[in-house]
Amino acid sequence: MMISNISRITGKCIHCSKRTQGKNSDAEFLCRKCQKTEEYSGITNLFKNMDKFDFGWLVGLIEGEGCFYCKGSNCKISTGNYCYPLAGFTLMITDFDVINRFAKLINVQPKGPYYKKSNKTRKVVWSVQITGNKALAIINSVNPHLGERRKQQIEKAIQWQIQGRFKLDSSSPPRYNLPGN
Ligand SMILES: [Zn+2]
Repeated sequence: MMISNISRITGKCIHCSKRTQGKNSDAEFLCRKCQKTEEYSGITNLFKNMDKFDFGWLVGLIEGEGCFYCKGSNCKISTGNYCYPLAGFTLMITDFDVINRFAKLINVQPKGPYYKKSNKTRKVVWSVQITGNKALAIINSVNPHLGERRKQQIEKAIQWQIQGRFKLDSSSPPRYNLPGN
């Protein structure tokens, strides 16, 4: 097997020219800050330009089947173990045509099929899962139209993500017990 030497530990951001840690070649490398901005504005623009009927259909589906949650993502860097708290959004649907329509509206790929065992029948489930800045972009676009329960989930998820990263102490259990769960 050939060992590739294309991957590198630093890259130059194609947007802001900052040189920082990354794995891709300079030609496509985006620094973390620019990547965040791009992820956020990409989905925000999709919502801005969305057909009104499609938007209403999407909000209704989120209200009925969507869930906002807090995700802890661990990462080890030279100065220790860190947790990156992220807002999460997930939608699970048993009909592929429905999940596919939803996913296309926000330009993501549906995941699945998963098999859910319930009452001895195996049910197929498809999902859309989004975390971090993309999830925040969805939140900001749909939040005003959602009911109380979703709004409470959203509030927790936002509070969770805006903590930024925090250091994990290896001598104690993981600190990211999800708030309020
Ligand atoms: Zn950049």
